[in-house]
Amino acid sequence: MATTTRPSDAVSTEAWAAAHGRLIESLQSLIRIPSINPPEPPGAELEAARWLGQALVEAGIPAEVHELVPGRGSVTARLRGDGTGGAPLLLMSHLDVVPAPPEGWTHDPFGAEIADGWLYGRGAVDMKDLLAMQLEVMRLLAGEARAAGRDPASDPVPGLRRDVLFASVADEEAGGLNGAALLALERPDTLRAAAAINEAGGVAVDIGARRLYPIQVAEKGITVFRLTFRGIWGHGSMPRSENANVLAAEAVTKLSAAWPARLTDVTKAMLDRTIAALDGSDDLPPEALRLLRAAASGDARASAAALAGVCLPVYTRVLDAMLRDTLSPNILHGGVKFNIVPGMASLEVDVRRLPGTTEEDMEARIRERLGPELSGVTDIEALISSEPLVHPYEDPDGLFPILEAAIRDHDPAGIPVPAMAPFGTDAKHLLDLGVPTYGFSPLRQPPGETYIERWHGIDERVSVEGLRWGLPVLYDAVRRFCA
Ligand SMILES: [Zn+2]
Repeated sequence: MATTTRPSDAVSTEAWAAAHGRLIESLQSLIRIPSINPPEPPGAELEAARWLGQALVEAGIPAEVHELVPGRGSVTARLRGDGTGGAPLLLMSHLDVVPAPPEGWTHDPFGAEIADGWLYGRGAVDMKDLLAMQLEVMRLLAGEARAAGRDPASDPVPGLRRDVLFASVADEEAGGLNGAALLALERPDTLRAAAAINEAGGVAVDIGARRLYPIQVAEKGITVFRLTFRGIWGHGSMPRSENANVLAAEAVTKLSAAWPARLTDVTKAMLDRTIAALDGSDDLPPEALRLLRAAASGDARASAAALAGVCLPVYTRVLDAMLRDTLSPNILHGGVKFNIVPGMASLEVDVRRLPGTTEEDMEARIRERLGPELSGVTDIEALISSEPLVHPYEDPDGLFPILEAAIRDHDPAGIPVPAMAPFGTDAKHLLDLGVPTYGFSPLRQPPGETYIERWHGIDERVSVEGLRWGLPVLYDAVRRFCA
């Protein structure tokens, strides 16, 4: 493979060491602000936004803190290019985190302690790590403007033809209505861009002797349905089959069985490119490669088996969710008193839809599974819904090939591939602004680390060396797209 010039090579070793030091300090400061969502106590998101605003201003970059809802803060900033390269690149993040009850943690979830090379705390991988990396890239670029005798507040950064936007928003963990959605509505100028780099992709997954880097180009859609079961009220001393709890239990059992698999274009591309990279090498046992081929031809059982053979078990669950529409029965309510047969029960199900599956399709399939009798006493309403997203990954002039190249340049054994997240992010709120959004949070951690299980989990942590590797990768992607 021809070696390309990496923009990061123009930055001195000492400057990278200093940047890494600042990155770790920023990440620690951010984790120590408990910007929990739902906000308890309120105001910490705003504090995090103000902290970021201050950090940007100290680097010479004008920043705006937006309090679009009282107590909920978001922050935006802009570095200038010379304007000849088209629309900006957006560095997108959220500054809220999910709650972290300390039970089970070996370190204070908001202490940001470093132990054995790991930085612990809520937000370490979701997603204050990428937020701190994006902040550091902004600082580096501003520093390069100053070194060239320019004012980063108003002058173009040397070598940038596009502007670089920075937006870190509140409320992603609760759907983003008080954050990205509101900002897109009220201040679209802070978000409108040719492309965005956001959370949840670009993290190394060991595959045989190689490393897979799934870059998020798509997201499944979500619909939360509430099913209400109409039973018959009665005296608890005389049980009856029309007990609404019995109906709900029957529904849970019927709906929990696996849904049929369907290979989407993105997942096929992910598998095909993985196979192409490994074919003819000794990096993966032949049996695993054979299973991957079967998976790429649409055999869902082979996919799970293939991944189980080459990856940590958690990734089989991820791949399984990429291969099918899913339904998880997550909230169940029924009954009012121990001696009353309930005539009413309700069940909320979390449905994640592949691109091409509509809300109506899923409601029809749910009714089909319930069967005519149970369906006849069940009301179904959609409470929350958002559509699946697929962003372009084949456009040679788009952001995706630049992300791929940045990975390969820093890990020659890496295999960057397009991937679909089974969950949603703030990317959906950028859709109306026409911003294709890529999950790219470059990170290479020690083998065996179950990154995906740290999300919202106990002992959330990130590798300090992993961040040292990732920062120049992100920097190169930003510089190249804006060059
Ligand atoms: Zn997140």
